[in-house]
Amino acid sequence: MQNERIQWAPKVSQAKIWALYQSDARGLVDETLIDDVGFALFQRCQSIIMVTERRRVVCPRCAQIVCCSGERWFREHAIVCPDCGWSASYGQYRDSWRHQDLQGGNAMYAFRAFAEGYQRAAPRERMLLIDWLINAFHWSLKHSRRHGPAATQLIAGSAEQVLALLDRLAGSDTNAGQVQ
Ligand SMILES: [Zn+2]
Repeated sequence: MQNERIQWAPKVSQAKIWALYQSDARGLVDETLIDDVGFALFQRCQSIIMVTERRRVVCPRCAQIVCCSGERWFREHAIVCPDCGWSASYGQYRDSWRHQDLQGGNAMYAFRAFAEGYQRAAPRERMLLIDWLINAFHWSLKHSRRHGPAATQLIAGSAEQVLALLDRLAGSDTNAGQVQ
């Protein structure tokens, strides 16, 4: 059904991330803002993990997590929600993540570490985790690693815009003195 299309978490807006860093640079611990950005990143990481592993999807009808009966979904594995009966073809599933920048690649360790650590972290630790995730990607973008981590999978905008944002963020935090 058209209105039961598989949904993945969207990228996080640059404005939100910039606002969080501005707040942090002023020494504030704005828990609402941290959770706003952090939870959006958390959901995006979960979507990336699900798509990359290709064996779990959130049922768009009842929000239950549907697991693959095999190692990962291919054409021969049915995608059916055991709770409500919602189903999708492999083609619909594949179309749902195509061109969405949801392939984790070599950055999977970072997406996984963030997704696993975020929910049990205290607010100040959450800010550190967000900063860690963002800087991990910064390094990779600067060095243009073809298969390395890419902040463009997490943050909205073109690769150039995302890199410009990360450069501005680096200038506004306590690591500003590091060698260029
Ligand atoms: Zn369902």
